Amino acid sequence: MASLLEVRNISKHFGGVKAVDELSFDIPQGGLQAIIGPNGSGKTTCINLITGCYQLTGGAVSFGGHRIDGLSRERIVQTGLARTFQNLRLFETLTVLDHVLMGQFRHSRVEFLRTILGTRASKRESREALERSWELLELVGLKDKAHLLAKSLPYGPRRLLEIARALATQPTLLFLDEPAAGMSEEEIDRVIDLVRTIQKRGMTILLIEHRMRLVMNVSEHIIVLNYGKKIAEGSAKEIQENQEVITAYLGTQHEKVG
Ligand code: ADP
Ligand code: MG
Repeated sequence: MASLLEVRNISKHFGGVKAVDELSFDIPQGGLQAIIGPNGSGKTTCINLITGCYQLTGGAVSFGGHRIDGLSRERIVQTGLARTFQNLRLFETLTVLDHVLMGQFRHSRVEFLRTILGTRASKRESREALERSWELLELVGLKDKAHLLAKSLPYGPRRLLEIARALATQPTLLFLDEPAAGMSEEEIDRVIDLVRTIQKRGMTILLIEHRMRLVMNVSEHIIVLNYGKKIAEGSAKEIQENQEVITAYLGTQHEKVG
């Protein structure tokens, strides 16, 4: 399978901390991969680097055969890459539906302005945007909450809204940063169904997650980070049996207990 994303020797240093250290991996077109690793192992930094939130200390990133490192965040979204945030970024005074509607205007601010000014073409565009928004809310199970303020939603549904908003930009590659953090087991079941459904529709997905039931259920390939470096990669079974991975996780468990 052809690679959609090629990450080559990327690094990010914060002073003396090598948050990501010479990391390379590929994501095949249509694939569903996961990055796991103890807290502070560089998972979020890796997404921040690929999506242009941080400048690389070194390395290169190609998406669909074109270099994207050095592009602005906005340009990178326009190339078809979307993400959710580990720390939720919702507008407290907008409704659930507003969030998904706003997500559709990835192409330009001009497009958004035209829509507000209300030309005939833009009226059609906004009708289509509204239809797509309802479809996305149905997909994540929030249709009956469309007119509630985002701030009134409990934690789990907020995370689902973040996913709907990322999908609204119509990406080809979606990064999910701990989508199941703080979720109930039932909510995790919904996320499992959701990622499988969107993958079937052609989306390529990179999942960062701590909840192993989700990771092991959906991932075709898993990359394990520790101290910014890749320490293992393989299938769910290979990762669960890998001694270095077990040691890395036991290490953090001891830290938590101690
Ligand atoms: P993970 O997502 O795997 O928990 P992060 O990528 O958030 O890990 O963090 C990796 C390391 O980089 C940690 O040591 C963290 O403290 C450090 N780090 C992350 N972002 C910054 C930043 N903006 N400034 C300084 N250090 C950072
Ligand atoms: Mg993180």
